[in-house]
Amino acid sequence: MASIRVGQGYDVHRLVEGRKLILGGVEIPYEKGLLGHSDADVLTHAVMDAMLGALALGDIGKHFPDNDPAYAGADSIQLLKKVTALIEAEGWKLGNLDVTVAAQRPKLAPFIVQMRERLADAIGVPVSDISVKATTEEGLGITGDGSGMTATAVCLLEKI
Ligand code: MG
Repeated sequence: MASIRVGQGYDVHRLVEGRKLILGGVEIPYEKGLLGHSDADVLTHAVMDAMLGALALGDIGKHFPDNDPAYAGADSIQLLKKVTALIEAEGWKLGNLDVTVAAQRPKLAPFIVQMRERLADAIGVPVSDISVKATTEEGLGITGDGSGMTATAVCLLEKI
């Protein structure tokens, strides 16, 4: 078997009033937040799907069903720790991770370092192995009109 595996993840959440905005485990001041069963941390969800996908272990909907009350309001960083434990139990560890979140507003640049630190801490790797990028989609589509945010992630896993 190969000693490296690659995975990708993608997620979308709707932006609504009356919710906290949590991205990469960081609460970001904004007039709206992402809607979901858990804390709806779209960035962290894409990361978990990439890690699970690398080992063909399904997706977070399979591991943490959104109709399970146990995950109502769940802190996605805690779920990321569980995913990390799962891949370690399979004999793998994260090599590196690269994630991009698309949002028209708010400006995410001031929070990027903190997001990288939170993800790195949850996964147990150096911050230098975690890349977080943010982009707008030039006012186009669901991120552009402010109705939602999307995130894509790619990760490399290495055999322990
Ligand atoms: Mg999600």
